Amino acid sequence: RLPETYRGRFAPSPSGPLHDGSLLAAMASYLDARAHGGQWLLRMEDIDTPRVAEGADQLIIQQLLSLGMHWDEPPVWQSRRLALYQADFERLAAHDLVYGCACTRSMLAGGGPYPGTCSKGLAPGQSPRAWRLRVPPGVERFHDRWHGPQQQDVAAEVGDFILKRADGLWAYQFVVVVDDGLQGITDVVRGADLLDSTPRQRVLGRLLGYTPPRVLHVPLLCDAEGRKLSKQNHAPALDLTQPVQTLQRAWRRLGFDTLEVDAVAAFWDRAVPAWAARHGIQLARND
Ligand code: GLU
Repeated sequence: RLPETYRGRFAPSPSGPLHDGSLLAAMASYLDARAHGGQWLLRMEDIDTPRVAEGADQLIIQQLLSLGMHWDEPPVWQSRRLALYQADFERLAAHDLVYGCACTRSMLAGGGPYPGTCSKGLAPGQSPRAWRLRVPPGVERFHDRWHGPQQQDVAAEVGDFILKRADGLWAYQFVVVVDDGLQGITDVVRGADLLDSTPRQRVLGRLLGYTPPRVLHVPLLCDAEGRKLSKQNHAPALDLTQPVQTLQRAWRRLGFDTLEVDAVAAFWDRAVPAWAARHGIQLARND
């Protein structure tokens, strides 16, 4: 694999089928990969097992296929990659970059950055509940292709964040970095709710020796009350009886005009060059 080969991914959490909000992230990541003549991967982020809905992964696969989005490698499931997460966790531990934390939720009530209470070791009789990363000091700067220059002092504004949760599950922030690193992801395109996770992911990725991917965060779709459209807010499932109209709706929400097409394949044939032109991408052939 050439290092400059574009590798993107769509990484849904299968807590339910895709809705109009998650389709925006899928569509934007797919368009960006195709416009770059790159590869597009599908990763089921089913690590948070209490939130996984039985069969949602298969529904998502069917939805994507009905809408004409095809991946270039077999999909992966995070729940089948636990040994990889353990190995990278141990690499961090070997460099004293993790520590056990005995703080309970009530001790941390009030929010704000983690104060580092357990970073110098636990008192006798205490046992670790969660595991945290020792975040190095400094300001993390990066460019988002939609939102422009970004920066965050992760140590000061977030603090040592959790890699392994008190319930024994790996944290999203950790596994997403391991997977993007191991899968050679060069470009992350996803919803803007994850823009403020990006500095954490970059810091952690660098500690693990991975090159942080370029990022583009698309605006979130909100409901009438201004809340992020999500499964928790009972977003309706995608209408697959009229796939072209469903695609056009997402397309307009990404800021484009309706395309004069009446078939799914024709939609993508027109949408890819339009996306490339909007984002200043030299259209590449995907051989
Ligand atoms: N699994 C996450 C979600 O569905 C997205 C993770 C990512 O794209 O980094 O919200």
